[in-house]
Amino acid sequence: MFSDLEIAQSYTMKPIEEIASVAGIDAAMLEPYGRYKAKVNFSLLDDTVPQGKLILVTAISPTPAGEGKTTTTIGLADGLRRLGKKTAVALREPSLGPVFGMKGGAAGGGYAQVVPMEDINLHFTGDLHAIGAANNLLAAMLDNHIYQGNSLNIDPKSITWRRCVDMNDRQLRAVIDGIGGTVNGVPREDGFDITVASEIMAVFCLASSVFDLKARLGRMVVGYTYDKKPVTAGDLNAVGAMTALLRDAIKPNLVQTLEGTPAFVHGGPFANIAHGCNSVLATRMALQLGDYAVTEAGFGSDLGAEKFLDIKCRKAGFTPSAVVVVATIRALKMHGGKAKNELGTEDLNALEAGIPNLLRHVANMVEVYHLPVVVAVNRFPTDTDNEVALIKALCAERGVNVVLSDVWAKGGEGGVALAEEVVRLCEQPSHFTFSYQEDTTLLEKLNAIVTRIYRGNGVVLTANAQKQLKQFEDMGYGNLPICMAKTQYSFSDDATRLGAPEDFTITVSSLRLSAGAGFVVAITGNIMTMPGLPKVPSAEKIDVDECGKITGLF
Ligand code: ADP
Ligand code: MG
Repeated sequence: MFSDLEIAQSYTMKPIEEIASVAGIDAAMLEPYGRYKAKVNFSLLDDTVPQGKLILVTAISPTPAGEGKTTTTIGLADGLRRLGKKTAVALREPSLGPVFGMKGGAAGGGYAQVVPMEDINLHFTGDLHAIGAANNLLAAMLDNHIYQGNSLNIDPKSITWRRCVDMNDRQLRAVIDGIGGTVNGVPREDGFDITVASEIMAVFCLASSVFDLKARLGRMVVGYTYDKKPVTAGDLNAVGAMTALLRDAIKPNLVQTLEGTPAFVHGGPFANIAHGCNSVLATRMALQLGDYAVTEAGFGSDLGAEKFLDIKCRKAGFTPSAVVVVATIRALKMHGGKAKNELGTEDLNALEAGIPNLLRHVANMVEVYHLPVVVAVNRFPTDTDNEVALIKALCAERGVNVVLSDVWAKGGEGGVALAEEVVRLCEQPSHFTFSYQEDTTLLEKLNAIVTRIYRGNGVVLTANAQKQLKQFEDMGYGNLPICMAKTQYSFSDDATRLGAPEDFTITVSSLRLSAGAGFVVAITGNIMTMPGLPKVPSAEKIDVDECGKITGLF
C-alpha cells in the first residue's frame, strides 16, 4: 500500500494558472507563490453575483481510530466535479506542530488529497508565520509599554496575552521572562501557545475584510489595568503594524485536489478555544466560484458543526444547504465498547452498540438546525461486507439517509454516490436556524448548547467561572456567542464516556474573553494550548533526498 505522500507525488500537478481558470479566477486576481500555489486577491469577492450551495462536512465523535472528514470533503468535491458540477473546496491550513508530532496530515488521505501536500504541511505560503509575527509584535509592544513607564497603568499580573510559536514545544508552556536586571524588561510569569491557538488566528478567520480585520484586532483584550479596566491592542496602537504583517496572509490560498478541483486552504484556528474552521474569506470565494462549496469543521458535530453554524455562519451570514456526517465502522465499534487494537476484526454487536453516537449527531443537525443530512460511511480496508450491510440497515430502519463513501481508495469515483445524494439534498428547502439566539444571556446560551446539542441536564459553573461570567456581562460582552472548549471524544465533558451518554452535567471551570474574534470561550476540563511532542515524534522519520524530494511525511 502506498503512503499518502507517495500517492500525492505520483500525480502530475497542473500549473496553478490552469486551476484558477477552471475556477473562473481572473489572471489579474492571482498572485502565484511558485508554480502550484497562489494567493487570490479578495477584491474578487462580489456579493452581488449568485452564490453557490454550502455543504458542511462534519462527523461523529472522534476516536483514535480516525474519521476522515478532510478526506471525505475532498473526495466529495471531486465526486461533484465528476457529475459535471462546478465545485470548490474550502479547508483549514495545517500547523507545523502536528506535522512533527503525531503521524497524520491535514491535506486528506489516499486518493482524496490536496496538493502540493509537502508545501501545504510545511510553511505553505507563510500565513502561520505572519500570524505568529503579528501575535508577538503585540506581546513585545505590551511589555515595552510597561517597561517604558506604563502610562496605561497595566497590571503585569493580569496580562492575558501570550507569546506564540508554531511548534509543539511543551518547554515553553510556562516561562518567566524579563529577567536579567532593570534594562532587560519587567520580570513576569508568561507562556507560549502554539500559533493556531492565538486569538489572531480566530480573528483572521472571521474577518470579512481588511477593515473588519483591523476593527477586530483593535478589540482584542490583552490584560487589565490596576483598576480592572480592559486594555486592548487598540489602546497599545498596535493595529496598523499588525495588519501590515497580515496584509498578504489574509488573501486565501488556492491549490488543487489530485483531480484538479480548485481548493482554498486558508486559516486554521484551534477547534477547542476557537471555532475550528477555515477563513470566512476562503469560504466566500468557494461560494462565489463554485455552484457547490464543500467545507469541513473540526472534531465531531457537537463541537465543530455547532461552532461552524452558531458562530461562523451567524457572523458571515452563510446558510448551509446540506450536512454530511462522516462515520466509520471502526470508530462506531469503539463507541460500542471495542478496544482500539481489536478494530480490525468484524464485530456486528459492537457496531450496533455504537450507533447511538451517530444517531445523536444526525438528530442534532436535523432537529436543532433543521438542515438536510446524509451520513457518509467512510470505508476503510478492514471493513467487512457484513458490517457495511448492517450499518446501512440500521440507518434505514431509523429513517437516516446513508451512503457508502470510498474516496480514500478510489478518489472522486468513490464519491459519486455521495455527491448525487448531496445534490439532491441541496434542492430541498432549507429552514436553517441557530441552536440559540445571540441576545440571550451567556448562561442561557451555555445551557442551550448543553441541553440541545450535548443532550446533558445543564451547565454547572465553578465559583471562578461565575465571577468571570458576571465580569464579562458587566463589560458588555454578554451578547457574544459561546465557543465551547470541551473534550472532542464525548458528548459529555468526560472523555471516557463514549457513545451517547445520558444524565450528565457539563462543568465550566473558567471563561475566556476573545473580544476580537467575537466570542466567549467556556473552558471545561484541561484544554492545552501548547501541545508537546510524543515519545517518538514523526519528525524523526522525515528526510529530504539529493533532488530536494521529501520522504517520510505521512
Ligand atoms: P479528519 O479530517 O476527520 O481528521 P482525515 O481526513 O484527515 O480525518 O483522515 C485522517 C487519517 O485517516 C489520514 O491519514 C487519512 O489518510 C486516513 N484515512 C481517512 N479515511 C481513510 C480510509 N477510508 N481508509 C484508510 N485510511 C483513511
Ligand atoms: Mg480534518
